[in-house]
Amino acid sequence: MNWALIGASTIASENMIGAIRAQSGAQIGWVVSGSAEHAASYAEAHDIPRWTVDLAEALADPQVQVVYISSTNEKHHGQALAAIAAGKHVLCEKPMALSRSEAEEMIVAARDAGVVLAVNHHLRSSAAIRAIRRLLDDGALGQLRSMRIFHAVALPRHLYGWRLDQPAAGGGVIADITVHNADTARFLLQEDPQFVVAEKAMTGLGQGVEDSAMSVWTMPSGVMVYSHESFTHPFARSGLEIHGSEGSLYARGVMQEGPDGAIELVTAQGSQPVSYDWRGAYDAVVADFMQAAAEGRAPAASGVDGLRSLMVAEAVRRAAMTGKRQAPEYGDLT
Ligand code: NDP
Repeated sequence: MNWALIGASTIASENMIGAIRAQSGAQIGWVVSGSAEHAASYAEAHDIPRWTVDLAEALADPQVQVVYISSTNEKHHGQALAAIAAGKHVLCEKPMALSRSEAEEMIVAARDAGVVLAVNHHLRSSAAIRAIRRLLDDGALGQLRSMRIFHAVALPRHLYGWRLDQPAAGGGVIADITVHNADTARFLLQEDPQFVVAEKAMTGLGQGVEDSAMSVWTMPSGVMVYSHESFTHPFARSGLEIHGSEGSLYARGVMQEGPDGAIELVTAQGSQPVSYDWRGAYDAVVADFMQAAAEGRAPAASGVDGLRSLMVAEAVRRAAMTGKRQAPEYGDLT
């Protein structure tokens, strides 16, 4: 499959170009960027044969079957619609859009065009999160009661920029990380948050946008989820805990990409490590997306998954701004 990269981004250079090239039969033919200078140097640095500042030029190439969109968040919607209209399958970065109406438009357009729209919620494809999901599916924890997600990290210095000071570009930690936590909770618990309460703050990095948030989500089953995300915690460890009537799971290092996660299951029988075979989550996303595109089936994280995690994040933002409990506005698409 021939790919076009839309957005000459850090996530593509650090993770996704390698993940795409790790798949047999995958080539990257184009990179599209808003800046000719950046596009040219990016293409050269990553050995991409063609670059352009004109999205239509890359989309007009009949060799291109799939696109990966990793521009700043406010561009995802328009770029995805253009790619879908050109008949390309789309792997889009999270948050997939800035609003429900934009996300719905993308989903409906992809359905009408018969192309696959996937969202890069990579955590649900990580080996650690999959191992936790298997334990939950096996009932290892009994009746579930609560989940705590620790995703307060340090934004790497080379990513200081639009995330910290550009609300119009979709900056802020809620757009960046709350959507990941929402997708992970949805994937593990197999239900969507019904209500949220939240607070957000600027704790040293954000300028006009929040760099930290904490929220509590009530699930329809009654399970309570606590979610903490931040850009300003250099020594905090990421992870999650899930607690049930028959056991608790403690997972550390599983909310960031890498092989150094550890999962512990604690029950009446004592404590035991949960082993899993680590594999790069981004590799898994790309492999699944390519297969989904070839077979015309739903990908690991679909447009509806992207929309729902976006709506949880939007409810967190509204709750923090109003001080009132909010219900995510998921809409009718399933
Ligand atoms: P970057 O800031 O690295 O890139 C975003 C855009 O900024 C690029 O597409 C490019 O614009 C522009 N840009 C970057 N560097 C330069 C430069 N030197 N000169 C000119 N323009 C430049 O963002 P990220 O890679 O961190 O994030 C991109 C997207 O990926 C976001 O939507 C983010 O939410 C998502 N993301 C997802 C992750 C995941 O795990 N799923 C992890 C990290 C990010 P242009 O589009 O014009 O080329």
